[in-house]
Amino acid sequence: MDIEKLIKNLQLRGFSVQHFGTAGEMVSYLSEEIKGCEVGIGGSQTVKDSGLYEALKANNMIHWHWTDKDSDVLEKEIASEVFITGANAVSESGEIVNIDGRGNRLAAQVYGIGKRVYILAGRNKLCPDLSSAIDRAHNVAAVKNGNKFPTRTPCKIDGKCHDCLSPDRICRATLIIHKPLMDMKKMEVILVDEDLGY
Ligand code: SF4
Repeated sequence: MDIEKLIKNLQLRGFSVQHFGTAGEMVSYLSEEIKGCEVGIGGSQTVKDSGLYEALKANNMIHWHWTDKDSDVLEKEIASEVFITGANAVSESGEIVNIDGRGNRLAAQVYGIGKRVYILAGRNKLCPDLSSAIDRAHNVAAVKNGNKFPTRTPCKIDGKCHDCLSPDRICRATLIIHKPLMDMKKMEVILVDEDLGY
């Protein structure tokens, strides 16, 4: 992966980009960048593993269904002025790929007038082109995500995505972001030179 080429391609598409060596640097940056804001967080192993949630909650109102069981938490995540999510894959050409089951994570990152969206990607999420990024989202991220649930899907048997029609399928929509969405204040991709999430 040519990280400089990736950054240039993301910027050409209109994304803001930050690049850090460690997850700790990313956490420090975001803690200042969005201090005092109301923040929604999508399901993200990267957020969990990096300690970002713990750092933000000191100075922010956070809505995250992984920690907050209120019945309206998903609506609050989507409506927040800031939304943070991981990426399932990022192509060197600058596209961001995510798969979702309920769609809350996808909805929150593509709609919001005046909203700021931060998309986190460790080096393990970077792929040489869009085709391999989509393949990673299905055959790595979705398969590993499915392992968290007591589902009976073909990927549980051989670790590969079969684009199944199982009623237990949790990967039900695939989103490719080509450019920052209209009317958003900011869409920023934060690259970290560590493996984060899956
Ligand atoms: S589509 Fe089916 S086989 Fe593919 S990752 Fe999702 S649940 Fe597994």
